[in-house]
Amino acid sequence: MQYALINGIKKEAAETGLRGICPCCKTPVISKCGNVRIHHWTHETKYDCDKWKEIETLWHRTWKNEFSENWREKIFFDDVNNEYHRADVCTDTSLVIEFQHSNIRTEEKTAREKFYKNMVWVVDASEYYEIFRNSIKSKVLEHYKEYRNYFYADIEKINVFPKKWLDASVPVLFDFGLHNASDYENDKLKKWLWCVFPEQYYLWDRTICGICINKETFINRVTKYNTFFANIMKPEFEQMANELIKEEERQIQEYEKQAEREAEEEQRQEWQQRKEKSKIWAADIQKLKEIIEQNKLQPLILSVNKDGKITDNKTPRIYNGCESMALGIKRTVWAGTDFPKNEVLIQIKYESEMLTALITVPNFVIDKILKGKFYYDIRIIDVFHPYEKYIISFDKYIYEKIWTIDALKQNLEFINKNFSGA
Ligand SMILES: [Zn+2]
Repeated sequence: MQYALINGIKKEAAETGLRGICPCCKTPVISKCGNVRIHHWTHETKYDCDKWKEIETLWHRTWKNEFSENWREKIFFDDVNNEYHRADVCTDTSLVIEFQHSNIRTEEKTAREKFYKNMVWVVDASEYYEIFRNSIKSKVLEHYKEYRNYFYADIEKINVFPKKWLDASVPVLFDFGLHNASDYENDKLKKWLWCVFPEQYYLWDRTICGICINKETFINRVTKYNTFFANIMKPEFEQMANELIKEEERQIQEYEKQAEREAEEEQRQEWQQRKEKSKIWAADIQKLKEIIEQNKLQPLILSVNKDGKITDNKTPRIYNGCESMALGIKRTVWAGTDFPKNEVLIQIKYESEMLTALITVPNFVIDKILKGKFYYDIRIIDVFHPYEKYIISFDKYIYEKIWTIDALKQNLEFINKNFSGA
């Protein structure tokens, strides 16, 4: 006990051997001021009237002394069990703060919670300090950063808090030791209380364990407001809510960035694959260039039959779906207002054979194709028929140029340069 009554006045144990009266049971008490234990009063009968009493340590006393003297060792009488209890600290609005250093039996813990109801525990978790500190480093205790006041973790799996306290029916504030300003690194974490709630909060699939509150803030708010949730933790909850919203926004941004990165990567891979593929074509185009230079070009003439099949009128081959590359376009017939006939020179890969062919493309398709600059690529040739007309289509939007032999030579040089596999 920190206090006894001497002549009806609350007094601390100033020297050994003083006599006073227990404020609870009114029996004689004697002061003990040795060198080992903290100065205290003890019942002369050696029997403490509060069966929940705990031998006080420096930790206890330091904490209690943070609060108004009137609030320390407040006496309660339990008329059901006919016994006295001394609450470590009890504010004017009956918020009880119990400081617990030593081990406590579960029955006693539950009994105290039931009796005081409006209470919080401050638990001396200094034995867990090293584990705790390492966990923060290794992120077992996730989401803790100094500028954030909440943390989450799988409470079943972590061992950074004394386990027996995690099922309390009231908030438990873990204290990892009295702070010591000379040891800044260790002191940082000890300046905070780590509050675990009986209720659970969820963030995505995680359970929010609780909130960190600066010890000084905690003491100041208790002193000022006398309550716990309304004025002490509510601002923390509000901050937590804001943090959660921000965190969610951060996550969304992160997902978006990730999606962008993935799309870029996909495109990069696609280009890479095309480049690889184009190497096969490059050799063939080189050969084709020589053939054209020697005026020995004899392309296959392709046409589209009424079923939409692309054939060459010589073999039973069907070219739909073959990879092809458009090399150039030749407009051959001027019909006064229009070029109804357009020949596209293409390379086709039929099975493993490379073929050069001309295919006639209707004007309304070519008009679209002609707008723009050179763009050579490997495409799939096919035919589709909207409005019951057959249309030659490439699988990409393509831009070609009117083809002449000279232009074709140039184009092939261009292709050759770009597809030489460099
Ligand atoms: Zn007593």
